[in-house]
Amino acid sequence: MTSENEQTLGQLSLAERLASVRAGIGDAAASAGRTADEITTIVVTKFHPASLVHELYDLGVRDVGENRHQEASAKSAELASLADLSWHFVGQLQSKKARQARQYASVIHSVDRSALVTALDTAEAAETPMPCFVQINLTDDEARGGVQPSALEPLVEQVLGAAGLDLWGVMAVAPLGEQPRAAFARLRGYSERVRALAPAATRISAGMSHDYREAILEGATHLRIGTAITGNRPTDG
Ligand SMILES: *Cc1c(COP(=O)(O)O)cnc(C)c1O
Repeated sequence: MTSENEQTLGQLSLAERLASVRAGIGDAAASAGRTADEITTIVVTKFHPASLVHELYDLGVRDVGENRHQEASAKSAELASLADLSWHFVGQLQSKKARQARQYASVIHSVDRSALVTALDTAEAAETPMPCFVQINLTDDEARGGVQPSALEPLVEQVLGAAGLDLWGVMAVAPLGEQPRAAFARLRGYSERVRALAPAATRISAGMSHDYREAILEGATHLRIGTAITGNRPTDG
């Protein structure tokens, strides 16, 4: 995005930015021969106060995303009265926090290793299996979140064997320095590999503020959009 666009974005209200992104999603869906109602938009509210989440709720948003456990836990507790608001956990999750994350999260997008599957699959979890995505690392940097594609099938098999988890599909973040469309095309291929083992795991969580159009063109069903809707984050880390 050009700095001119960013300045314009900064002057718009939250409602205007939300409407603008919704229109962009509609356009991208139309050019992909899809409809916007098959796409869930998760507004990523990390670093923003609970009051902003409440404003989004008043504007009709029912899916919000957070990437840090402490923050997600505190904000979801503060807004517990908004019973039909779904909290999506999209960041790296420590295994020792998994049980707590189950308490507030409706969906976990970042299941990327065996130890986390084990931690999430508690005995009580089997009664209400947690919807989850297996996060795939689209870079060669092992330090990034996500399972390497070469290790995808064993992790998927483990999730399928976990009574406390309900596999929805695959998730990824487009790497810097690569055309997002090419990265999302690879993700679509990994989604097909997963569906060969788990035909119901059809969903694809991909696309952020700067690349949601490309993600929609490659089949994304769940967009995770922050700044294009919320404006710049108060602090970033
Ligand atoms: C912050 C974040 C987003 C949203 O990023 P924007 O560029 O602000 O749209 C999406 N996915 C994950 C995993 C994130 O951490």
